[in-house]
Amino acid sequence: MSTPPAYRGRFAPSPTGPLHFGSLIAALASFCDARANGGEWRLRIEDVDAPRSREGASEDIIAALTAYGFEWDEAVERQSERLSLYQNALDHLRTIGIAYPCGCTRKDLESAPLGAAGERIYPGTCRAGLARGREARAWRVKVDGGTIGFSDRLQGWQEQDLARDVGDFIVKRADGLFAYQLAVVVDDAEQQITQVVRGADLLASTARQIWLQRKLGLATPSYLHHAVAIDARGEKLSKQTGAAALPRDPLPALLRAWQFLDQPAAPSLPTSVAGFWTWAISAWNPRALPPVAMLPAPDLGRVIAV
Ligand code: GLU
Repeated sequence: MSTPPAYRGRFAPSPTGPLHFGSLIAALASFCDARANGGEWRLRIEDVDAPRSREGASEDIIAALTAYGFEWDEAVERQSERLSLYQNALDHLRTIGIAYPCGCTRKDLESAPLGAAGERIYPGTCRAGLARGREARAWRVKVDGGTIGFSDRLQGWQEQDLARDVGDFIVKRADGLFAYQLAVVVDDAEQQITQVVRGADLLASTARQIWLQRKLGLATPSYLHHAVAIDARGEKLSKQTGAAALPRDPLPALLRAWQFLDQPAAPSLPTSVAGFWTWAISAWNPRALPPVAMLPAPDLGRVIAV
C-alpha cells in the first residue's frame, strides 16, 4: 500500500441540483482546511443515489466550483463508477457474518421509534432470518452493543450507542442501490482521505461510518463538522428546500460564506477571486469556526461589508 498523505481532504457533493450557498460553505471549509495544511483536496461526486441525481447536475457543480476558483487534485471521482468496490465491501460484511437480508417494507417499520439520528430504529425483525414468505429486499448490518465515540475537531467529543439510537442499518437498499453510509466509508478509505470536513447534518451518521470502518478493517479519518446554513423556516438549505443556485459573481458569495464561518475579517476587501483565495488560505482559522450545528443563511442579495 502507498504511504498515506499527511493531509488529504475532499468535497463530496450529491448531484441533486446546482451548487447553493449551503454546499459552498462545505466546499470552502474543506478546501481552506486542506490548503492551509498544505494538503490535497479531492472532488467526489456522490451520485450513488441515481434516482435523486439530476441530469447535468454534476457538470453544473464542476462548472460552478471552477468559476468560484476551487482547484482539486487528481481526476473527479464518481460513485456511479465505483459500484464494484461497494459490492466487495458488502461481500466482506456478509463473509464475516454481520450483513443480513431484510424483508421489511417501509410500512412494516412505520411504528418503530425514531432514534437520535432522526431515523426509525430498526426493531431487528429479520436479524435472525427472514420470516416465511418474506423476500429479501434490503441488506442490513447487525450492530453490536457499546458506544462509538470520537472527538470532532470542532464539535468536541461525540458518542452514539448504535444499537440503542440507530439499530441495524441499511447498507444496500431495497431498490438495489448501495446506501450512502457504506459508499462513503469505502470511498474515504480507498481515496486515503485523512480529514473529513463537512456539514453538521452528517454528525449523526459518523458513528455508523466509524463502526463500518472498524468492521471492514479501514482507517478512521479525523472529522470536523461545521455549522450548516438554514433558511427562514429553520430547514437546511438544499435542493429539496428550494435553495437558490449560487450567483454568477463569485466574490460576494465567497465573502458571505467566509463570514458565515466566522473567519477573520480581511484588512482590505479582496477584489478578485484569486486574491480572495490567497488571502483566505493564509487566514483560515478553524478555531474561529462557530461550534454549533446550524446558523441562519445570510441574504446573498445584500451588500457585503467585511
Ligand atoms: N454527499 C453528501 C452531501 O452532499 C456529503 C457526504 C459527506 O461529506 O460525507 O450531503
